[in-house]
Amino acid sequence: MAVSVFDLFKVGIGPSSSHTVGPMRAAQTFAQHLESKGALETTTAIAVDLYGSLAATGAGHGTFTAVMLGLEGYAPDTVLPDEVEVALERMQQTGVVRLGDRVAPAPTLIDFRIEDMTQRPLTVLPFHTNGMTFKAFDERGETLLDETYFSVGGGFIVREGTEDVVADRLEEAVNEKPFPFTTGAELLEHCERNDMTFASVMLANELVKRDETEVREGLTHIWRVMEGCKDAALTRTGVLPGGLNVRRRAPEWHRKLSESDPDRNPIFWQEWVNLVALAVNEENATGGRVVTAPTNGAAGIIPAVLFYATHYTPGARTWNEEEKQAVIADFLLAAGAVGVLYKEQASISGAEVGCQGEVGSASSMAAAGLAQVLGGSPQQVENAAEIAMEHNLGLTCDPIGGLVQIPCIERNAIAASKAINAAKMALMGDGDHHVTLDEVIITMRETGKDMSSKYKETAMGGLAVNVIEC
Ligand code: SF4
Repeated sequence: MAVSVFDLFKVGIGPSSSHTVGPMRAAQTFAQHLESKGALETTTAIAVDLYGSLAATGAGHGTFTAVMLGLEGYAPDTVLPDEVEVALERMQQTGVVRLGDRVAPAPTLIDFRIEDMTQRPLTVLPFHTNGMTFKAFDERGETLLDETYFSVGGGFIVREGTEDVVADRLEEAVNEKPFPFTTGAELLEHCERNDMTFASVMLANELVKRDETEVREGLTHIWRVMEGCKDAALTRTGVLPGGLNVRRRAPEWHRKLSESDPDRNPIFWQEWVNLVALAVNEENATGGRVVTAPTNGAAGIIPAVLFYATHYTPGARTWNEEEKQAVIADFLLAAGAVGVLYKEQASISGAEVGCQGEVGSASSMAAAGLAQVLGGSPQQVENAAEIAMEHNLGLTCDPIGGLVQIPCIERNAIAASKAINAAKMALMGDGDHHVTLDEVIITMRETGKDMSSKYKETAMGGLAVNVIEC
């Protein structure tokens, strides 16, 4: 188990982890490499090529602007939404990129606009469809640096030529952990042998790198950013950016619900869960601050189910703050343990396996988190995660206009309900079930391989071509 819970839950900006966060991080890393090689000052021109899905849906997913910001050295976890607007406006006005501005003592000014990027939507590089190449040239036109990166989902990036190194490092890191696992079977075995839960196995592995206070504070921070994301959405009005004229619904729903359910009557749990998912995803579509969980497109599911866990589960109303934070930590750790299984055995990238890898994985993780805090045995938690994914198999990625809005926003609310139902179903049983989580994860991976590329974040099939944009 090399992937940390903090890799799966990362603070970033919307609207997409693979198409916004990953490309920004790749461009920023390229700028850092230029600086560390002493080549930043002598760079006089750059070239950026985007391949496959990044080129096909880059406009709607904010890829081009993310690359521009990354070239200036902005990082997705620290850039402020207000800074984004100012920097992009300046670049558009001047046609100049301040290359390496945030990663070097002084930037190098380069004439470069979004229109100068080369888009190759029909070319898919062998390692992954989300490929991008960055080149820097000196005044004689000699190449100073030429690097290709892949955004492999959830904001993770891999540089070409380091794929094997990354795989080796992951394997080494697996063995550093006290309870290494890459499959559900291994995770269950640790639980059975040591009388542990999914959450306690994940916590024990996290303690290799951080002390327990740091882990718990980090998880509280993640939850607070999720809450802040929802709250920010409730203050906005009008339509979402991108030209589809999708109306923001969360503020109006919030007002109506607050009036009709001031005391949080449990019969309204579904409406509140829907609202949280909708709000988080509207904020993501706005390009606001969001936690990838495990991706941006699926960012609303875990906060919505976590909201259910902290408001509608037995005893929730009587918890003190410490008890509540302990429940939140257990939820995120168990969800993270399941996220590791998807990352290790399949993919969380919509461009690689369709929406089943994004919304399906998030729903499965959320189901595990909820089953954990409801007191499920490891077998029941595994069953909850399995049920949630089983009923998301085959889910395609066909966003209208290449924007992370339709079907993405409502899909998060539906998937949150599926997660809650999956946890409830698992808890009605004794953990004994027919299909294992590993089997459903492998099925998701193989289904994704067989899926036409039209349905893998290219906006070339499904709703993206059957609904007229207006
Ligand atoms: S359809 Fe699913 S995978 Fe595709 S952009 Fe929307 S949320 Fe992401």
